[in-house]
Amino acid sequence: MKMGLAMYDFYGRRARVMPRHRMFSRARALEEVPALTPRIAAVGRYHDATVTAPERLVLELVQDGTRLSPGSEALNWTALTGRSGAVLHLDGPDGVREVTARLVVNAAGPWIDSVNRALAMPLPRQIGGTKGSHILLDHPELLRQLDGRMIYFEGNDGRILLVFPYHGRALVGSTDIPAEDPDQAVCTPEEVAYFIGALRDLLPGLRFDEGQIVYAYAGIRPLPNSEGVAPGLISRDHSAPVAEPEGDRPFPVIALIGGKWTTFRAFSAEVADSVLKRLGHPRRQGTDTLRIGGGQGMPDAAARGDWIAEASAATGADPGRVALLLDRYGATARAVAAEEGADPVLLGGTDTSEGEIRHIARVEQVVHLEDIVLRRTTLGVTGQASRAVIARVAEVAGAALGWDAARRGEEVAACTETLTRRHNAPPS
Ligand SMILES: Cc1cc2nc3c(=O)[nH]c(=O)nc-3n(C[C@H](O)[C@H](O)[C@H](O)COP(=O)(O)OP(=O)(O)OC[C@H]3O[C@@H](n4cnc5c(N)ncnc54)[C@H](O)[C@@H]3O)c2cc1C
Repeated sequence: MKMGLAMYDFYGRRARVMPRHRMFSRARALEEVPALTPRIAAVGRYHDATVTAPERLVLELVQDGTRLSPGSEALNWTALTGRSGAVLHLDGPDGVREVTARLVVNAAGPWIDSVNRALAMPLPRQIGGTKGSHILLDHPELLRQLDGRMIYFEGNDGRILLVFPYHGRALVGSTDIPAEDPDQAVCTPEEVAYFIGALRDLLPGLRFDEGQIVYAYAGIRPLPNSEGVAPGLISRDHSAPVAEPEGDRPFPVIALIGGKWTTFRAFSAEVADSVLKRLGHPRRQGTDTLRIGGGQGMPDAAARGDWIAEASAATGADPGRVALLLDRYGATARAVAAEEGADPVLLGGTDTSEGEIRHIARVEQVVHLEDIVLRRTTLGVTGQASRAVIARVAEVAGAALGWDAARRGEEVAACTETLTRRHNAPPS
């Protein structure tokens, strides 16, 4: 472990922004986290960045991209369903659209093979996905002992697991099981039992049971097809194989295999360069230091206090509330605070306001209620999406989006169904 962490420091030395690793003795580790198993030999500490809201990061990237590139478009809830020659058939909320392609980037992650089929491409399978599940626990004592840290540990079966604080809950993951259909991926009772068992082994000083679970979810990693290789040994590196024009398909297709959040900027730049080259355009803008979404105009630690005071004076919002919105939305917090005003109405039992929902519904490409509950906010993942909260979000968003009573009812039913499937129980 010590050698691994030393290599991590070595490879990151040129762009270092965080402290180097440190090793702690068993006694010191047990002092810091008393519930930890005494079977440990020592503990290594290193620092890393975290993405606090991956779904919001996707949205902000899409919004920045379309704003900076007039003429581009992002179509939410729209599927590629077929192809005739160079013409792609897209099916979305506003019906069917046709687009003539000069080049296609297949960025459908675990759905890459099904998009290849829609493109009528007779390719061998490109994806050999593995399912990863996670659970979130309501466990204040565990959060207290974690104190902002992630524990990255080996289960009894040798798999690497992790547990860390996430929006007031403890997130535990993940499994690594060969799986094909991303639409059917769910966290199974066996996976839940595996996580609970691993936590009991790691932290025998704490109590764990299934009643603490507020949310469970699963996803398929879009790893390269690697038949016969054990899941843990499949390469996590990314690649962008190109299918050159063939038969009645006059355009090339670049598939994005195996991407990760950790490397998305480098991977995107790599693919953008190859697309630009094929289309005969020079690159006009590097993005390595470009700030994303609400990161633009976000104050640094020294300017934070002034920024909050100024936004609070301009919008009438309480400074404490502005600080919370700043952590959640970056500099976009100012617009959200203006929408909320001096007296935010909070959704029952949560710190999310109706003003936030109105803002999101108006400017964040919402098509369905679950976009708000599961992706734009943390209501779903933190287990705060009770039946009452879902109904109220549907009313507030519905008013902004012009949903009538029938549409609101459909949206509530669909969102409840998704949460029930993920959580293995209907929202309370
Ligand atoms: C369990 C798990 C744990 C992970 N942990 C980490 C981690 O710790 N660190 C890290 O960096 N990364 C991690 N990842 C990887 C990361 O979350 C993404 O899976 C990876 O970046 C792939 O992203 P993507 O954009 O290629 O695909 P996705 O994010 O899956 O996007 C594919 C998109 O294609 C759309 N689509 C599907 N079919 C069609 C169609 N016919 N027409 C149009 N669109 C379609 C889907 O709706 C979806 O929006 C993890 C992934 C999983 C599953």
